[in-house]
Amino acid sequence: MTDEIIMGYCMKEKTQKPMKDAKQVTLKNGKMALQGVCSSCGTKMTKFISAKKAAPAVDAAPAPAPTPTSTDPSAPSEP
Ligand SMILES: [Zn+2]
Repeated sequence: MTDEIIMGYCMKEKTQKPMKDAKQVTLKNGKMALQGVCSSCGTKMTKFISAKKAAPAVDAAPAPAPTPTSTDPSAPSEP
């Protein structure tokens, strides 16, 4: 199921990198996310996904959303 490449934002390299060992998790606020590690440097990364398409096939290149999203942190709130 996770055989396809999932892109995530690497906090360390500040760029999109393929996510390794990605697994779908549900956060405390009920949002769905994929958590894994950067295949390049091993940094833990989190990619938020919409509950509508809770499939591993998330958009690799997020298109500019037509609606303004106030909360779109591609970064986990971790130290
Ligand atoms: Zn990285």
